[in-house]
Amino acid sequence: MRARTDLACWQGSQGRREEFAVRVVLLGAPGCGKGTHSEWMKEDLGVPQISTGDILRDAVKAGTELGKRAKAYMNNGELVPDEVILGMMRERLAQPDAAAGFILDGFPRTIPQAEGLDGILGEQAVQLDRVIKIDVASDELVRRLTSRRVCPNCKAVYNIGFRPPKKEGICDHCGEPIIQRDDDTEETARSRLTVYESQTAPLIDYYKANGLLAVINGNRGFAGAQAETREILDL
Ligand code: ADP
Ligand code: ZN
Repeated sequence: MRARTDLACWQGSQGRREEFAVRVVLLGAPGCGKGTHSEWMKEDLGVPQISTGDILRDAVKAGTELGKRAKAYMNNGELVPDEVILGMMRERLAQPDAAAGFILDGFPRTIPQAEGLDGILGEQAVQLDRVIKIDVASDELVRRLTSRRVCPNCKAVYNIGFRPPKKEGICDHCGEPIIQRDDDTEETARSRLTVYESQTAPLIDYYKANGLLAVINGNRGFAGAQAETREILDL
């Protein structure tokens, strides 16, 4: 793996050269592998992974105002309202670590969120470099979601079928017990996929139109998708 310092010559898709900063959006249905691929990408790129789902779950756990507003939407598999998400992301993207770039995982999820993101980045005089869409067949997605397990502490993602932790039930990275998310039941997983098709899939055309979109095949397992992503990002 390349270290951050080897990326001095990384050049964004716009032909710009911006001292190290790489700004990537991962797009794709729930269960397509956004969280899994973020794990190695953040190491390779040396930028933070920003997952709206993780931020919201932490807020629910901590019982903050944000968490109280978001909880019912999340448990029903619905989207949290755009203005809530955009307020939260405006704050997150203003944190110092995001100046080095970021991998956005789970955001934007609607056209108004994508437009809001363009506005936030425009105020910072920066722009996205790449939007990577991970394609996975829909019958496979339900199977992956219902067999997914996550670490509530370090957010690592596992699958009891094809990506189990080394020691059953325990996170490889931090030793915490791994859990099943409340919204990874079959019924909620199916409604999340319907929400994805109606509200998030239109972003594919949005990012195709501005030339940022790259599509990778997520059906062939982890290594194939990783190799394709590395190629797109010049890693
Ligand atoms: P997945 O991609 O597997 O569906 P996430 O962890 O990204 O899971 O999201 C879990 C839930 O959090 C979503 O079903 C939704 O309720 C809420 N959520 C996360 N990101 C957003 C977003 N950008 N806009 C609206 N709701 C969101
Ligand atoms: Zn962990």
